[in-house]
Amino acid sequence: MWFAWAPCSAGRHFDDGASAAAPCQGFAIATIQGFAESHFSANFPSSELHMALIVHKYGGTSMGSTERIRNVAKRVAKWTRAGHQIVVVPSAMSGETNRLLGLAKELAPAKPDTSYSRELDMLASTGEQASSALLAIALQAEGQPSVSYAGWQVPIKTNSAFTKARIESIDDVRVRGDLNAGKVVIITGFQGVDEQGNITTLGRGGSDTSAVAVAAALKADECLIYTDVDGVYTTDPRVVPEARRLQTVSFEEMLEMASLGSKVLQIRSVEFAGKYKVPMRVLSSFTPWDIDINEEAASGTLITFEEDEQMEQAVVSGIAFNRDEAKISVLGVPDKPGIAYQILGAVADANIEVDVIIQNLSKDGKTDFSFTVHRNDYAKTIDLLKEKVLPGLGATEVSGDAKICKVSIVGIGMRSHVGVASKMFRSLSEEGINIQMISTSEIKTSVVIDEKYMELAVRALHKAFDLDQA
Ligand code: ADP
Ligand code: ASP
Ligand code: MG
Repeated sequence: MWFAWAPCSAGRHFDDGASAAAPCQGFAIATIQGFAESHFSANFPSSELHMALIVHKYGGTSMGSTERIRNVAKRVAKWTRAGHQIVVVPSAMSGETNRLLGLAKELAPAKPDTSYSRELDMLASTGEQASSALLAIALQAEGQPSVSYAGWQVPIKTNSAFTKARIESIDDVRVRGDLNAGKVVIITGFQGVDEQGNITTLGRGGSDTSAVAVAAALKADECLIYTDVDGVYTTDPRVVPEARRLQTVSFEEMLEMASLGSKVLQIRSVEFAGKYKVPMRVLSSFTPWDIDINEEAASGTLITFEEDEQMEQAVVSGIAFNRDEAKISVLGVPDKPGIAYQILGAVADANIEVDVIIQNLSKDGKTDFSFTVHRNDYAKTIDLLKEKVLPGLGATEVSGDAKICKVSIVGIGMRSHVGVASKMFRSLSEEGINIQMISTSEIKTSVVIDEKYMELAVRALHKAFDLDQA
């Protein structure tokens, strides 16, 4: 087998709870449990940086041109000159992943993407392979020895869920050897290899997850996510210019924000960071590369694992939104036991994820049942309901709306404060925005509204919860 040269005995085997982790080929596996407590120096970064192992991740915009790649190389070389061991996980140059996926669509417009997902991964993974090699070349031009590896060369092993694969284990032998030889090691973001040797990718934005997983596997001191904004903001600063950068954000809040649509971090990366307690910071790659390293190490937003007093005070820490969902309603459903199961069971069996669910009050023994799915699954869900569910249900109609959005307020402080949701509803009503669905959990409240009001709603809520005030 191709991976015989790289036994995973010394690597890390991940069990992310969502996939059955395949055992490594007969080697003893160092389990990742317990390393959370063991390694990390809680004071990092301090004014006196100790020699550390640090993972840098650079997003697409940060790698967007040869000039920017040269800047990344100069920044990374600065960190190595300060005595640190650096592993870099780059994304593809901005626009490249979209360009490649667009070419595939051109060649097979009528076929669903899912029918050729293996080839999509083969294709999309090349974007990161190119940017990684370019960065290695740029580092070498700076006089810094470096080597780049594709995911399969490390190897980063994943399951076989093409276009949304999950990392199962990472072998650190090769990487450590190069680090000890004084090289910067560059590992492609976004990709891995399955048990059969197929290249897989981790879903859009997946380089964040690669970086955190590599940091976990190497027990790195910190994972620095360099991007085109200088940290995590109260909401997307491109939508609300008054948004404020958060100095720290709790892991739980970041998890909610990412899952509710804040694309600054892929949700799986936050899950990894939480599970393996990887210290993680989001910061700008657009500061001058030669700024003081201590200043850089303390900039941006730190994801924290403990609630501090300051966080307790902020009732709402951030606002997230997403346009990726669509609403589906089954009308005139008989109001009797088993109906939700009949509808949603069929949807689940088709592997379609459901998010917000609402069932209206019954009138004359009939009710309406609505739920949201990802927009990509919209047509498929409607067809499925019409063909397989309606006939046996006695419902009158299936209708849908793909032009909706979900806006959410997130904050740990919501646990201990009442009236937060009602303040949200009042603020939306003052703007004349109709709420179609509501969903709540301990630290968030989400509403589904007409897509055309999304920006208005986000701005109004940002103001109502004083998020623009320091
Ligand atoms: P990268 O290419 O570096 O991975 P992304 O585009 O994936 O960058 O993520 C950074 C973008 O996330 C920012 O440009 C910003 O528009 C967006 N974003 C959304 N929500 C937030 C938020 N709460 N804080 C900061 N950025 C956010
Ligand atoms: N290049 C991939 C994407 O555009 C992965 C990433 O950038 O994180 O989604
Ligand atoms: Mg990203």
